[in-house]
Amino acid sequence: MPINVTRSSLPSLEEYVEEIRSIFESYRLTNAGPIYKKLQQQLMDHLGVKELSIFTNGHLALETAIDALGLRRDGGEVITTPFTFVSTVHAIVRNGLKPVFCDIRESDYTMDPERIEELITDKTVAILPVHVYGNVCSVEAIAAIARRHGLKVIYDGAHAFGEKVDGVGVGNFGDATMFSFHATKVFNTVEGGAVAFQNEEYAKALNKLKNFGLYDGEDADVIGGNAKMDEFRAAMGVCNLRHLEEAVAARKAVHDRYFERLSGVAGIHLNPVQEGVQSNYAYFPVRFDPQVFGKSRDDVMERLREQEINGRRYFYPAVNDMTCYRALKGKATPIAHEASLQIMCLPIYEGLTLAEADRICDIVLN
Ligand SMILES: *Cc1c(COP(=O)(O)O)cnc(C)c1O
Repeated sequence: MPINVTRSSLPSLEEYVEEIRSIFESYRLTNAGPIYKKLQQQLMDHLGVKELSIFTNGHLALETAIDALGLRRDGGEVITTPFTFVSTVHAIVRNGLKPVFCDIRESDYTMDPERIEELITDKTVAILPVHVYGNVCSVEAIAAIARRHGLKVIYDGAHAFGEKVDGVGVGNFGDATMFSFHATKVFNTVEGGAVAFQNEEYAKALNKLKNFGLYDGEDADVIGGNAKMDEFRAAMGVCNLRHLEEAVAARKAVHDRYFERLSGVAGIHLNPVQEGVQSNYAYFPVRFDPQVFGKSRDDVMERLREQEINGRRYFYPAVNDMTCYRALKGKATPIAHEASLQIMCLPIYEGLTLAEADRICDIVLN
């Protein structure tokens, strides 16, 4: 079997069947049913947030989160990062808004707060940073900038599920935080996602917009879409959440082994867990400086591929280098661009053995 960058977490078939049994008795398949409500409560406890709305995927959660803040307007600009999955930027554009790309920091690949203010214009409506690889953004600096300029802050927390900063759930920062429960993420509901937030009024807007704009079941007062999560996926979430702690511990063991074997090598830069952050160990990005290491990221990828080990160029290309965004004029983002050429994520998941991790390190070091 080839080794891929990740392998989806699955409960036993028996456990899943037990969880969906009630659906076959109630005939309640979707529309905020009892399993949805159970998952919602369990996730609020796990994430340490007061409000949470669950969606059919992370992308629609983010798209709806922007819409529910009332940000749709002609010519409105949203400051975001090019060093992300393309979904982040599509969510802005599909709301009729214009993305303005802000460069990242070398240290943790998140949006550089020192470069945000120079991009603010009278059209700016929001800042949309990303907690890249679970590295938490400079949330206080970003909050101060947003306050000074009257902007909303929406975090793409797709990589930061379950993380805490000095004991505070990462979903408590900004006006809203999106989480993704896609099959490739540290916690999955097959496809799925959520928005965490603080404001109860916002809950009403979000819940309407993900259900056709209906406010009483019959009449719509806003133009919504359909982004609800069904009971079968919610049941997968309930099962996977039960085993999450073990899954994260297994990932940490792989993370620690990689760190032990690869740190201190000239031309290889690893991504240490930030001070005060309780990590989910979702990704293991490695940066190769070809001048010093002697080989490029793509050379190393190729050597691994020959042994059926599939790392991932993540994120590559940077979003402002993608075909659909190349024409957008904006400031150059050289740090993000270079990171996109030098970083590969190594395989990390619950079933990856330490012997396999060692084999991967041997190939990289050779
Ligand atoms: C996975 C991901 C998304 C999209 O989430 P889906 O659940 O796949 O729709 C958005 N942003 C980032 C950074 C992601 O990694």
